[in-house]
Amino acid sequence: MVKQTIQIFSRIKPSKKTTAVYSVDNDEPTGAFLEFLVPRDQAEGFVNNKRECYKFRFLKVFDQAVKQEEIFTHIAKPVADSVLAGYNGTIFAYGQTGSGKTFTITGGAERYSDRGIIPRTLSYLFQRFSQDSSMIYTTHISYLEIYNEMGYDLLDSRHEASRLEDLPKVLIMEDPDQNIHLRNLSLQQSANEEEALNLLFLGDTNRMIAETPMNQASTRSHCIFTVHVCRREPGSATLRRSKLHLVDLAGSDRVSKTGLTGQLLTEAKYINLSLHYLEQVIIALSEKSRSHIPYRNSMLTSVLRDSLGGNCMTTMIATIAVDKRNLDESISTCRFAQRVALIKNEAMLNEELDPALLIARLKREIQSLKEELAMLTGEQRDEQLTGEEIQRLEVLVKAFLEDPDPDVTLSMGPDMRKIQHCFSLLKIMIMGKQSAGNRHSDGEASPGNTVAVIQNSPCSAAEMTKLKEMMTQRDNEISILVKMLKREKKRFQDTGDQLANTPNGQSPASQSALRPAAGPPSREGSLDSIPANHGGQAIQMKKRDPQLSMGKQEAFETFMRDHEDRVTVEHNRELLKQRSAEARRIGEKLSEAKNRINELKKQLALQRRQRAALSVTENCPEVEAEVDPVEENLCKHIEQEKKFYKSSIGVLKALRTEIEHLQLLLERAKVKLQRDFHKWWGLEASSVQESEATAGGPAGSPHRTLQPPLPSPPALCSERESRADPEPKPVFSTAVGDLRRFAPKRVPLAAAVEAGPEETPGQRRTDPPSSEWRALSTTKLSSSIPLTGDQQTDADILAFVQARQNLLNRTGQLQ
Ligand code: ADP
Ligand code: MG
Repeated sequence: MVKQTIQIFSRIKPSKKTTAVYSVDNDEPTGAFLEFLVPRDQAEGFVNNKRECYKFRFLKVFDQAVKQEEIFTHIAKPVADSVLAGYNGTIFAYGQTGSGKTFTITGGAERYSDRGIIPRTLSYLFQRFSQDSSMIYTTHISYLEIYNEMGYDLLDSRHEASRLEDLPKVLIMEDPDQNIHLRNLSLQQSANEEEALNLLFLGDTNRMIAETPMNQASTRSHCIFTVHVCRREPGSATLRRSKLHLVDLAGSDRVSKTGLTGQLLTEAKYINLSLHYLEQVIIALSEKSRSHIPYRNSMLTSVLRDSLGGNCMTTMIATIAVDKRNLDESISTCRFAQRVALIKNEAMLNEELDPALLIARLKREIQSLKEELAMLTGEQRDEQLTGEEIQRLEVLVKAFLEDPDPDVTLSMGPDMRKIQHCFSLLKIMIMGKQSAGNRHSDGEASPGNTVAVIQNSPCSAAEMTKLKEMMTQRDNEISILVKMLKREKKRFQDTGDQLANTPNGQSPASQSALRPAAGPPSREGSLDSIPANHGGQAIQMKKRDPQLSMGKQEAFETFMRDHEDRVTVEHNRELLKQRSAEARRIGEKLSEAKNRINELKKQLALQRRQRAALSVTENCPEVEAEVDPVEENLCKHIEQEKKFYKSSIGVLKALRTEIEHLQLLLERAKVKLQRDFHKWWGLEASSVQESEATAGGPAGSPHRTLQPPLPSPPALCSERESRADPEPKPVFSTAVGDLRRFAPKRVPLAAAVEAGPEETPGQRRTDPPSSEWRALSTTKLSSSIPLTGDQQTDADILAFVQARQNLLNRTGQLQ
């Protein structure tokens, strides 16, 4: 058992704005310190305006510049190592909305280097599994989302078609031993890193899809990604099972600050309630005198029961956004962490005997013993000898004794029962004879006398010489055979060594290194095909989007062109192309190297044959034994080629992981684009209807608007305001964010409408969709640009102006 307090770390999110005054000290021998300095004048209305300095101790504080790799190495790797050894592990991120919890746990959606703890840990675990061939590892993944105190399975395939609320709820069940079981939460087996990553992306995409403006589950729900590892030695009945929970908690923002109402207040209450219960559990655990820990109060604490004060090695990452206005939230996050640091866990090695495996093993053992027995005895028997068999044995023993030939053997087959029976027969006979002899003469039947009787028998002298000769002969034969055997053995060994040393006979290691390129397309060799068939479930999600009409398709293209994610998507696509090309190049080089190796081997074999032939024809075996420089040179070349081959395979593997990740990022970006587009399209459609209604039908004012006045729904508004970072995010911003970007002001329905009031709605409706969409992207400029009145020309002018503005926006020349 390992006793350990929960390890607390803090990570500070990079910020461009003026941050709160803070300092980080990682050099103290007693741990690291994070200190906030609050000048008195700024502290007005603050939690405690008497204090100016707030100092918190952590195991380590990761400041703004720290990269994901370092976070993984310092925080996640040790936990993953203990999971590999058979202990449970948990890593949870706690902090206000926008402070970097998701970034830390899952990672950013833009760059491969932004991979968070989950993908890196999966990669590490599978790498370690493959290095340890003495064990069999099996991995299962589950992904649970807790939203408003309800649990949902993020890997449930029904997610695609349903709203979050319609999905089956995950239920907590407790067995008599108070172990928690989660019903309706699927455990999906994953045989390799790729499958596990697919599951992660599937869950994240499902989470994104289920999100609606009224249900911003991603910031208001807790997500628990669990890796279940089972480790077993082949043939052994003991297993080690361990669980690794990677937890992205809901934002810890306090309700009072967010000023929510209605549904959002309910949500906020639930979040705060579940975090409140988490805190309660933590307080109870940190007080030694408390015997009752209120785990059952919330789903989160029930699920994480082991992680908090139980059988688990737990680590907390306090994520902090140090902007001035977040100071109170940052301090409350740190305070929470200080309490968490007091909790002691007792992690145990989760070793168990699998009864089913044990029974199966014993059965196998019995069976194999039976088989062994049958093989030795020639037949299967458990029963007694029959009367007939006993009779036959008696006849045999009698004949054996009566035969004058000393070489005669008593043969009754490889049956222990028969052997034993014969021995007892013999014993009975000898004993009978002894007692009879005792009766007739005194002492004649002793063993020594028996030998004497034999020696004195008439044929004994000649027989003896013959036997002695035979024995000498046999002895000679045996010595010759033993010598031969030894010679053979030595030769065999020498050949083995030679094989291992010469590249022609590959050692097992080199064989395995060469294997990937041989035979049917291996993973390394088939990188070309990855873009086509990769992605499994993630790819399937793409198919959910029904065929778009032509107009909508064009709208989608325009939408996509101007979408803020486009740059990232294009960048990633470009990167993917580059990487795939690189992989192809290395693949080609590999196959060339393989051909070269084969060619060199052929030459080597030829050279050896020639030398062998030479030694035979010229009858000088020394020729073969001499070192041949040509041969040596060939061997050296082969070694070099092999080294190159191996290192290239390493590079190719790393590339493959990156390519897979990029593909998943692209896939997710695609799904997000589609979702954003549908949202936008729906809002557009409804606003058209609205404005038509207010304008008194379709023939109303030419200045009808496509874009509603955007009465920012409270959900989105407050969510933005409560975020730690109010800047528009580069990716994954809210629907309203997107709408604002695409139609920042009231938008005339079409350029045609703008062009002249005399234009009739009938005309507009016959416009090809493309011009309508081109027009849509001209929107806010239209009022200030002089137009010709010609529909097509105006649309072109506006498109040009829009394009110019986009360009200026991008180059930052337009304020
Ligand atoms: P949370 O999950 O706590 O609400 P996020 O992880 O979504 O916060 O982070 C908010 C934004 O900040 C995201 O756009 C994310 O990419 C970015 N971000 C967070 N932490 C970092 C970091 N360490 N480096 C770069 N960007 C970060
Ligand atoms: Mg988040």
